[in-house]
Amino acid sequence: MYPNERQTAVQAVLEACRLCRAVQARLVSEDTLKKKDESPVTVADFGAQAIVSAELAAAFGDEPLVGEEDAAALRNPANATLAEQVFAHVRALRPADTAEAILAAIDRGRHPGGAGSRYWTLDPIDGTKGFLRGDQYAVALALIERGQIVVGVLGCPSLPLHAVDPHGPRGCLFTAVRGEGTTVRPIDGGNEHPIRVADVATAAEAVVCESVESAHSAHDDAAKIAGLLGITAPPFRIDSQCKYAAVARGDASVYLRLPTRADYEERIWDHAAGWLVVKEASGEVSDVYGRPLDFSLGRTLRNNKGVIATSGRIHAEVIRAVGQVLPPRKG
Ligand code: AMP
Ligand code: MG
Repeated sequence: MYPNERQTAVQAVLEACRLCRAVQARLVSEDTLKKKDESPVTVADFGAQAIVSAELAAAFGDEPLVGEEDAAALRNPANATLAEQVFAHVRALRPADTAEAILAAIDRGRHPGGAGSRYWTLDPIDGTKGFLRGDQYAVALALIERGQIVVGVLGCPSLPLHAVDPHGPRGCLFTAVRGEGTTVRPIDGGNEHPIRVADVATAAEAVVCESVESAHSAHDDAAKIAGLLGITAPPFRIDSQCKYAAVARGDASVYLRLPTRADYEERIWDHAAGWLVVKEASGEVSDVYGRPLDFSLGRTLRNNKGVIATSGRIHAEVIRAVGQVLPPRKG
């Protein structure tokens, strides 16, 4: 199923990964970190969205895109230098694109999402903090039909090909199609092969992964949950939807994303591709109360709180422990 969509999504994500790597190599420096200068990530964010959007439009016409970015800031003359950097990086891959075409491609991401028949959702760089630190980040693209995710692609340009060899070759691309499983391949070429979650029987055996950023997921609650489950391995902290990839290929068996604020609504582009990558690798994903994630409500998962992804068999056990630590659901 979805052969054209799968192939186009894979190509688009690979191109966006090339752009992100080029920006990271040229623009991210110690200086950027010291000065808290976020412009490199901004260039890569806009550039990656322009590339993916243009590739999708070339293949499928003006099909809706729910993207994290829009071009309003780039159209502001005060940001002309930034805009020129974005155009230069996009044109390195798509030489014929005019400035207006690039801005229009980025702006296609404004779609509101919802229960409508079919749209794509894109996080051009998920894990921007990781990108700036030189750690993990991901380009995440998914196709949603009537609220169901049917294709998910995660490009992870810095992720080691083999978790056991962290200093070995890097750059993985994960692809999932509903009903057809999840595969991984090296970003720089090589064979694709199927992956599945680790077969852990009890949560005590699990490795837990969570955000590096404590503002994105409550580390203190995660430690309590791990304690209740008898987990002794230290948490594996990694930025972006690489956490879903880690669960899907068995580097970890639990991904905890625990609310740090009552009012935060998770964004669909932060979870859609990762959700399918884990589900099709035989894992399970829900919110912290065990409810399915509802991708049909617009740009956010407003009926869910947090996210729990596991290797499957241990899901109910993990949700019970989460329930003992987090306050009960209101309403
Ligand atoms: P991670 O790399 O897992 O820490 O997640 C990065 C994503 O966290 C970004 O793409 C943001 O959309 C999202 N984010 C921002 N603020 C919050 C928050 N308060 N709670 C959960 N996620 C957040
Ligand atoms: Mg994100």
